[in-house]
Amino acid sequence: MGATDAEKEQSVYESTAARFDAAADKLKLDDGLRKYMRCPNREIIVHIPVEMDRGELDIFDGYRVQHSLARGPSKGGIRFAPNVTLDEIRGLAAEMTWKCAVVNIPFGGAKGGVVCDPEKLSRGELERITRRYTAEILDYIGPERDVPAPDMNTDEQIMAWMMDTYSMHVRHTVTASVTGKPLDLGGSRGRREATGRGCMIVCDQALKRFGRTRDGTRVIVQGFGNVGSQAARLMHEAGYKIVGVADVHGGVVNSRGLDVHALLDHSREAKTVKGFAGGEPIDPEEILEQECDVLLPAATENVIHGGNAARVKASILVEGANSPTTPHADEILFDRGVFVVPDILANAGGVTVSYFEWVQDRQGYFWSENDVNRRLRRIQVAAFDDIVRYGKNHKVNNRIAAYMLAIDRVAFSLRHRGIYA
Ligand code: NAD
Repeated sequence: MGATDAEKEQSVYESTAARFDAAADKLKLDDGLRKYMRCPNREIIVHIPVEMDRGELDIFDGYRVQHSLARGPSKGGIRFAPNVTLDEIRGLAAEMTWKCAVVNIPFGGAKGGVVCDPEKLSRGELERITRRYTAEILDYIGPERDVPAPDMNTDEQIMAWMMDTYSMHVRHTVTASVTGKPLDLGGSRGRREATGRGCMIVCDQALKRFGRTRDGTRVIVQGFGNVGSQAARLMHEAGYKIVGVADVHGGVVNSRGLDVHALLDHSREAKTVKGFAGGEPIDPEEILEQECDVLLPAATENVIHGGNAARVKASILVEGANSPTTPHADEILFDRGVFVVPDILANAGGVTVSYFEWVQDRQGYFWSENDVNRRLRRIQVAAFDDIVRYGKNHKVNNRIAAYMLAIDRVAFSLRHRGIYA
C-alpha cells in the first residue's frame, strides 16, 4: 500500500499548520496569539524584469515570506525552482520559525523563492535574476532584519552575488547580510557538514537513551545529497555501520556495512549510488523498510506515510529531510514505540551554523572548525534534552513536544513585547 492521495498532496504548509494546531491545543494557547502566530508577519511578492541572453526581457515572480520577527531577525533559505509557490514558501517560513526556536537561536523564520528553471538559465541570467531579486526585497533584508541563505538550486555563488548587491546599495561590505557564503567571503567553517553532523549528534543522544553506543549500530540513509552523504560519512567514521543508502536513481545495501568513502567516490563519478559494487542493489522505494536500527531519511517530504510506516524496522528515526513523515505515519510510528527525532531538531544543524556564520561576520572574528562543531553539539544536545523533558512532562511524542517548546518560546517573546498599535 502506498501513500494515500491526501497524504501525497499534503503540502508542507498543511502539515506544519496541523502540527502547530495540535501543539497549540496542548499548550492551551489563547485564540489571539494562536491567530497571530499562525499567519506570517510579512509576505513580499516581486516581479523581476531580467534581460535574457537572447536579447528579450522576461519577468520572473519572486517571493520572500517573513513568518516571525518576534525573537530577532528572520532567517531562511531562497530556492530557485520552476514550481515554487507562495503557499510552499509560507509553510517553509513557518517551519523555520519553529526550527530556530527549538534550538533557541535568536532568529525568526523566513523563506524565499524565485519561479525559474535554473537548468535553462545561463550563468549571466542567473546572476541578473539574483541581483534584481535582491534589489527588489532590499528594504526588508539585512543583518538586523532578515538573513537569506541557500536552499534548493541556490549555492555559495548566489549568496556571494546577494551579499555584493546588498553591499553595493548600502555602500559598504556587509558580509552578515546573507549566510552560506564561500569561506573566504565570510562563510563559516563546518557549514557544509553542519546538517549531517547535527543528525549524528541527535542520533548519538537517542542511542544513549537506549543504553546503546555507536559501534555497530546499523543505519540506513535515504538521499545521498548534501545532508545524506555527509551524515553517512560522519557516522561511518564515528563507528556506525551504514547498511543501506539510496538516492532517487537506485539503492545499495550491505549487512556487513558499506564502505562509505568508496561509495562517495563512486557517487562523485557516477552521480548516483546506483551501480556501487560494494553491496547488493535495491529499489530505492524499498530502502525505508530494510532491517536497521536507525533510519535517516534525508531526501524529500512525505516518504514515510500510512502505507509503509508499519513496515519501518528501525527503532530510531532521525529526520534529516524536512517533513519526511506524514501526520498519519507519525501516529503509527508513535504507537509502535519508534523514537522519532523530529526534523525541526534533527536537521537544525544547518541553521545553527548559519547563525554562527552571522555571529562571526558581525564580530569580524572567525572560529576554528573545532569551535564550530563544539558549539553546534552543545546547542543540539541542549535542544534534544529540552524536547525529551518537555515530552515527558506533557505526555506527548517528540514531534509535538518540539512544536510545543518552539511555540512556547515564540509566545513568550510576543507576550512580553506586546502589540504595537
Ligand atoms: P540534495 O538535493 O543535495 O540531495 C537530495 C538527495 O535525495 C539526492 O541524493 C536525491 O537523489 C535524493 N532523493 C530525492 N528524491 C528521492 C527519493 N524519492 N528516493 C530516494 N532518494 C531521493 O538535498 P539536501 O540539501 O541534501 O536536502 C535533503 C533534505 O534535507 C531536504 O528535505 C532539505 O529540505 C532538507 N534539509 C537540508 C538542509 C541542508 O543544509 N542542505 C538543512 C535542513 C534540511
